[in-house]
Amino acid sequence: MNTANTLDFNPDALRKKYERERDKRLRSDGIGQYVDTDGQYSQYRTDDSYMPRIERAPVKKTVEVVLMGAGFGGILTGIQLRKIGVEDLCVIDTAGDFGGTWYWNRYPGAQCDIESYIYLPLLEEMGYIPKEKYSFAPEILSYSQTMAKKYDLYDGALFHTELQSMTWQEDSHTWLVKTDRGDEIEARYVCSSIGLLNRPKLPAVQGIETFKGHSFHTSRWDYAYTGGSSEGNLASLQDKKVAIIGTGATAVQCIPHLAESAKELYVFQRTPSSIDVRGNKPTDQEWANNLDEGWQRKRRDNFNILVTGGVQDEDLVNDGWTSIMQKLGVILADPSNSEDYADLTPEELGEAVELADFEKMEEIRARAASIVNNPEVAEKLKPYYRQFCKRPCFHDDYLPSFNKPNVHLIDTDGKGVSNITAQGVVFDGREYPVDCIIFATGFEIGTDYSRRAECAITGKGGATLEEKWAKGVRTLHGFQTNGFPNLFFMGLIQGGLTANNTHMLTEQSEHIAYLINRAKNGNYRSLEVSGEAEDDWVGVMKETALANEDFLAACTPGYYNDEGKKEINGVFGLQYGGGPDEFFRLLEAWRMDDRCEGVTYS
Ligand code: NDP
Repeated sequence: MNTANTLDFNPDALRKKYERERDKRLRSDGIGQYVDTDGQYSQYRTDDSYMPRIERAPVKKTVEVVLMGAGFGGILTGIQLRKIGVEDLCVIDTAGDFGGTWYWNRYPGAQCDIESYIYLPLLEEMGYIPKEKYSFAPEILSYSQTMAKKYDLYDGALFHTELQSMTWQEDSHTWLVKTDRGDEIEARYVCSSIGLLNRPKLPAVQGIETFKGHSFHTSRWDYAYTGGSSEGNLASLQDKKVAIIGTGATAVQCIPHLAESAKELYVFQRTPSSIDVRGNKPTDQEWANNLDEGWQRKRRDNFNILVTGGVQDEDLVNDGWTSIMQKLGVILADPSNSEDYADLTPEELGEAVELADFEKMEEIRARAASIVNNPEVAEKLKPYYRQFCKRPCFHDDYLPSFNKPNVHLIDTDGKGVSNITAQGVVFDGREYPVDCIIFATGFEIGTDYSRRAECAITGKGGATLEEKWAKGVRTLHGFQTNGFPNLFFMGLIQGGLTANNTHMLTEQSEHIAYLINRAKNGNYRSLEVSGEAEDDWVGVMKETALANEDFLAACTPGYYNDEGKKEINGVFGLQYGGGPDEFFRLLEAWRMDDRCEGVTYS
């Protein structure tokens, strides 16, 4: 175990540096610093690039289940529902096809940072082995569409269609779902899987609307303008000056391709990302041929347990996630797992975790210094915050991009770009004229659920979900909320936060299918959680979430901590504190018990 005396860095100095870096980024406007891609900015989120919108007549029908969202959440639930004999399904999505985040995020270099063998769900059932350890976006998109085909989810699906409202009809115990295409669908159940990152956002900087060149958001990549494909080779940028705003996980993946192709590339950075080794490699066919039945679940659980501080005999995935989380997590979750930490007080344990984090981040900073030739540029690319304040990035070509003569890092020292003019981007009084601005500025997270679902949700007695959740989300296990029968939520809502999102969606889809199957078997028309069960679960969330609060409050602002707010109510504020593995086991035990405590079937 390291102690402050054996370290080759000064923890106090680092602590102060982290504080200064956070403080200079804190701002009072929070999410208000962004503009929504509605109204005059709607061109930043229409589907002009990927698939043409085909006109069609409004649909009027009655189905058993409406699945809102055609990403992995909707697909997995559709599959589980097919397995329990649900025939009438209607998938609705604003995208032109299945794929969810992978439908929209087709930017060059888009890749999943979770190992493909655990990220792509139901591999054994589908008889598929990914091509590489970390899959690129086209493979994931194509896989998700193959899943949808195999289970007939295309049947009756409505694409390029936005839900506008859903209203509970007490007489028939059904939801009436209306869309922007004039569709009216009556459904016994609705499952909302809208995804976490579904609404692109732009910085609310002055003059953004005055820019005369070309511009787009990374989740709507305009290959007609850039040329090339998701593999890069953006030939049409050869004579173009390009600005990219943002240096988060998305920018880190597309910047190497822009650096390769653009005449000049200006990277506007507000906060540097932490960039660790990627080390992608093709799948070893011999390994793949010798996998035993049940291998994926075993591997997925092994990863999940390791990255949340549990102990396993083997590290099957063995990558950047497991190595860092194992080190920090083992100490946090159960110090008695290691002789070094067994006798420490909680304060000493906290310090041990912090030291391990400092050590890891020193390694990340040293990596930037060793790869980037210009020491001043390297210094600006060093992240000064704790590892999990932001999504850690893994890339082998991002940092070397800054050694290219056509790539210019414009570090805004935490301030962000000042404004945008007709010609380009301004920072610190200097205008950088460009032909194209690419917004890698992320997505709306933590705003009102109905707003992100783009749908007015009205439950029993005319109450809206917006009103009900105005002071905070209320559910039992993240799935259902009192007053809104037969409606299920998926995703990061009061559940077990895991780095491997599809693992959570798989567990959630099985749970929803169980709930619906029980209603079908008992000939019930509706199921609703009680207010009491909901109160209890919110209490559990609050109790356990507190553990996170100090950590998040000390972080540099970002969507993990509601842009630096002291009270953390955002996505990461209210998650089950026992971790995902414990949460999944809790759900399983609840199902095994078979009393459906807290849920009333009628
Ligand atoms: P992020 O929200 O992570 O990043 C937005 C970037 O824009 C940040 O660097 C932010 O700076 C910057 N920014 C915002 N406003 C300004 C401004 N006014 N001037 C300059 N810079 C600005 O969005 P991403 O699209 O990068 O990623 C979103 C999420 O998508 C990730 O966190 C991850 O969960 C997911 N993702 C996952 C991948 C995977 O492999 N599984 C790959 C890519 C994305 P600041 O940090 O200071 O706020």
